[in-house]
Amino acid sequence: MKNDNRKNEIVRMVETQIIPRGVSDQRVIEAMLRIPRHLFVPQELVSEAYSDHPLPIGQNQTISQPYIVALMTQLLNLKGAERVLEVGTGSGYQTALLAELAREVYTVERIDELSRRAKAILDSMQYKNVHYNISDGSYGWSEFAPYDAIIVTAAGTDVPEELMQQIAENGKMVMPIGERFGQVMILVEKMPGGNIVKKEICGCVFVPLVGRYGWE
Ligand code: SAM
Repeated sequence: MKNDNRKNEIVRMVETQIIPRGVSDQRVIEAMLRIPRHLFVPQELVSEAYSDHPLPIGQNQTISQPYIVALMTQLLNLKGAERVLEVGTGSGYQTALLAELAREVYTVERIDELSRRAKAILDSMQYKNVHYNISDGSYGWSEFAPYDAIIVTAAGTDVPEELMQQIAENGKMVMPIGERFGQVMILVEKMPGGNIVKKEICGCVFVPLVGRYGWE
């Protein structure tokens, strides 16, 4: 009965928050329907796991609003063969979505407790294509660069040059850029030959990217 209720909550979330706002990538929609988001939120907030807003996950950090997770993922246009860098593992929910949609996921988190918790959940769900790193992800993860897609789930003041260099040709990066309490979602595309094209997508509010190429 409990499982049926959860399934209904996931379907309602996708049908009321994700599809009507313009997310149409069928792979993203189907992956969201498969992932039990309540496993990624603190026990006392499980009843709000499918609500239309971010939730606290401890350490002053948040699991992003479901729609924002879906939108950022759709912008990467993943087909299944990509190697993806995620900066800001957080709860691991976005990581799970990327692991469903790409070949390999490299995820960096600066707070070790969050990284370890996310890894424990993702391991228990049998994701074998996720690689974890506890460090300042504003440097990216150069060892495995370049990446077909980069997603930064914390806000910077500008797109870090180090990250730009780690995008493969024809690759994409999505990242919130702006002030401490309000940003614009930016889509960066690296064209053949290396030219960079940036597009503004929408307003958003993220926790800060803390590190060498982010906030202090
Ligand atoms: N995608 C996550 C999810 O679904 O739970 C949302 C994560 S939360 C909005 C942003 C995360 O970025 C936090 O966990 C924070 O600790 C992390 N973060 C901030 N600055 C970072 C940095 N320089 N390197 C790595 N992670 C960072």
